[in-house]
Amino acid sequence: MRKRPRRRRPKRSGANGAGQRRQKLSRRVRELYRPDLADDPEAAEWHAELEGELARPGRGRGRQKTRSGERASDEAGVLDERDDEQATGSESTGRVIAISSGSCRVQCGEEALDCVLPSDLARNQRAVLAVGDRVAFATHGASHRLRRVLPRRTVLSRPDPRNPRDERVIAANIDIAVHVESVAQPPLRPALVDRYLIAIARGGADAAVCVNKMDLLSGTEERLRELAKLAPYRALGLSILPCSAKTGEGLDDLHKLLAKRTAVFVGHSGVGKSSILNALAPGLDADTGAVTRRSGTGRHTTTRSSLYRLEDGIRVIDTPGIREFGLWQLTEDELAAYFADFEEHAARCRFRDCAHTHEPDCGVRAAVEAGELSAARHEAYLRIRASLASGD
Ligand code: GDP
Ligand code: ZN
Repeated sequence: MRKRPRRRRPKRSGANGAGQRRQKLSRRVRELYRPDLADDPEAAEWHAELEGELARPGRGRGRQKTRSGERASDEAGVLDERDDEQATGSESTGRVIAISSGSCRVQCGEEALDCVLPSDLARNQRAVLAVGDRVAFATHGASHRLRRVLPRRTVLSRPDPRNPRDERVIAANIDIAVHVESVAQPPLRPALVDRYLIAIARGGADAAVCVNKMDLLSGTEERLRELAKLAPYRALGLSILPCSAKTGEGLDDLHKLLAKRTAVFVGHSGVGKSSILNALAPGLDADTGAVTRRSGTGRHTTTRSSLYRLEDGIRVIDTPGIREFGLWQLTEDELAAYFADFEEHAARCRFRDCAHTHEPDCGVRAAVEAGELSAARHEAYLRIRASLASGD
């Protein structure tokens, strides 16, 4: 029998058409990703398309083209109307925008209210409450008291660094997680993308990749060469946005992608996450605490996340203390389910529980050898699998 993932399956942005979409995307991977991209007519076409996009003024790759994002953002649109609204009766609801010891700040309509946590919640607050959570609270006179955390739509979580068996939710109810990379200083590392994609998919949010510091590259050729490294991910349906926090390139596209959605930026230190956030919202709402990050005592004055409201219904959860995260409770057997591009090739494996590592007649490895599947994707799979086995 083929082994089935036992715990959580990857969540999808919608129930309909996901299988079909995957199939289509797997086909695109096969079509697009050859070991030698330069000789591939399809890849050349994609390059041309990309070049066109880069050259087009305004580069309007808006929401309508964010393949994976459509459904989630539509849902979010509906929820958004309720999210920050005050409810009738003795209870109100709102969204957590910041957390401190024993209390949290809740956005309720246009007001930001400080809510005291009941003692049972306060004792365990790191485990049960996250920025982005929708909560119900009661008001007595001038004070507000949190009652319940409402069910989450999505999460971005990681294992607790001190106790890896515990889940730590970094951000809740996010529509999209933007993985930020840079093309230089530090150089583009496509190998990091896979891990982030899995963590994001597990929590149910959409993903996009923002390629920052494009200003450090000279000329179209160099730009295309860098961006071509992300071809397998684009073929998976991911939005890839070249941008520069410095020159403003691509920020319109990012703005459009994020409109009416709640987002979180993830990625290694130094790639420009804060710079992008500041460039998107130069007058970032000071009373939410944004300025503490850039204050004289240094960047990491707080490890607490905050939710910022930008124009056009954009909400961004900033997670200053968290630059990297592991994969919470993912088993080796579950891993392949997150590599949608392996699916059709895995059907040809001799063993139904093939791990695609060393087994004879492995359809996935055969596809890599035949140039039908990205070798980089398979290497990423092997690398992550090894790290899961070693308990990393
Ligand atoms: P974070 O750690 O991901 O939040 O990165 P920061 O926003 O702190 O940026 C790290 C460094 O990269 C800073 O020195 C920024 O000035 C620089 N930086 C950020 N974005 C860009 C960009 O688009 N182009 C260039 N050339 N430098 C940038
Ligand atoms: Zn196999």
